Amino acid sequence: MTTTADVVIIGGGATGASTAYHLAKRGVKNVVLLEKQFLASGPTGRSSACVRQHYSTPETCRLVLKALRFFERFEELTGGRSAGFVRSGYLLGVDDRLRKAMEASVRLQQSQGIDSRLITPAEAQAIEPRLAVDDITAACYEPEAGYADPAQTTAGFAAAAREMGVRIMEQTTVTGIRADGDRIGAVDTSAGRIETRQLLNAAGTWAHTLGRMVGVDLPITVCRHKIALVGWPEEARGPHPMVYDFVTNIYTRPETGDMILVGPLDSEELTDRADPDAYREGLNLDEKTDLLARAATRFPVLERGAVMKAYAGCFDVTPDWHPIIDTTGPAGFSIAAGFSGHGFKLSPAIGEMVAALLTDGKTPKDDVHAFRLSRFAERKPIRGTYGDWLMC
Ligand SMILES: Cc1cc2nc3c(=O)[nH]c(=O)nc-3n(C[C@H](O)[C@H](O)[C@H](O)COP(=O)(O)OP(=O)(O)OC[C@H]3O[C@@H](n4cnc5c(N)ncnc54)[C@H](O)[C@@H]3O)c2cc1C
Repeated sequence: MTTTADVVIIGGGATGASTAYHLAKRGVKNVVLLEKQFLASGPTGRSSACVRQHYSTPETCRLVLKALRFFERFEELTGGRSAGFVRSGYLLGVDDRLRKAMEASVRLQQSQGIDSRLITPAEAQAIEPRLAVDDITAACYEPEAGYADPAQTTAGFAAAAREMGVRIMEQTTVTGIRADGDRIGAVDTSAGRIETRQLLNAAGTWAHTLGRMVGVDLPITVCRHKIALVGWPEEARGPHPMVYDFVTNIYTRPETGDMILVGPLDSEELTDRADPDAYREGLNLDEKTDLLARAATRFPVLERGAVMKAYAGCFDVTPDWHPIIDTTGPAGFSIAAGFSGHGFKLSPAIGEMVAALLTDGKTPKDDVHAFRLSRFAERKPIRGTYGDWLMC
């Protein structure tokens, strides 16, 4: 059966669901979201969902601050749904290699209105007494940062969008894209054809496959990202801020069940390429031991901790570790993908940005211009205060 839609979104992760919500908020009628499995079944559902503000370009700082403000008001803005946002604060420690870059980053964040402060290692330890700080020479703190629940967030956006008239079709796979002359004409799905003039590729780790259907080559590499959930020894349990550590290259956040979530910040993960439909989802002993050892370097009490659970998800990584948000290829085809391991926290603001792109277009003055696909061919990749160190 053939139906029609004004806009079709491919992908029911945080990006697609947020965009559906923001399109509906703008009054766009007849929006359809297609998800091949169920909402948040892809990397979104495995996300650590940390909402840090530590970014190092003006555009990303503005996005993440807007996103934080959305998380804070999620219930009010989505008709009573919860994103499960917990304000824990965020601590970051560096050594002399990255000290200047971190200080410049904090100055930039402050200039954009983010509550980020430079603190001494001793002050960091006063905030989180379980920390070892001997090898840290500088630190910063964001009291407003926190983490959320990625499945709840996606479901909340989708439910609010549905209430405003968006059709959410789960268990519906896009199998082909049809052109009408030099523009988008229709998508073929496992549930039939949908005629449309506007198509958004928000398919995350599958986005490059969908791009190929219309001849758009997306420079996205899919790789494994490993997580360990470590149980605190009984005497050391208790709340803590998210701790990011650019010396041992890990990030952490509290996890329910008296655990701490530990993930690596290694650009080398890029070499661990993955097929998002068939990759090694567990961690081997070396991978678990490595994460536990690094966590115990920062929190020595974790020498008596144990890995309770470990899993891997997939990142969709671009050459500069920043997303591609653009309209390109056949007329009516847009992309919001390549979030390179940090798309969850941005999703409330990205949805708004993409909805504006689809309805109003863009000019080079708009922030979205920074995320254009052509930046790679132009040899103008996004670079922040950390230069070639691309993790923020
Ligand atoms: C382990 C892990 C930890 C992370 N931690 C953080 C973090 O702390 N903070 C942060 O900000 N980010 C984090 N990220 C990254 C963040 O989760 C992602 O950038 C974000 O969730 C991507 O959302 P998305 O909607 O763009 O893509 P996805 O979640 O990949 O969603 C794309 C959807 O498209 C669907 N799809 C694909 N092909 C088709 C098709 N042909 N037809 C129909 N549907 C299709 C898929 O099923 C999928 O559900 C983490 C990621 C992982 C894996």
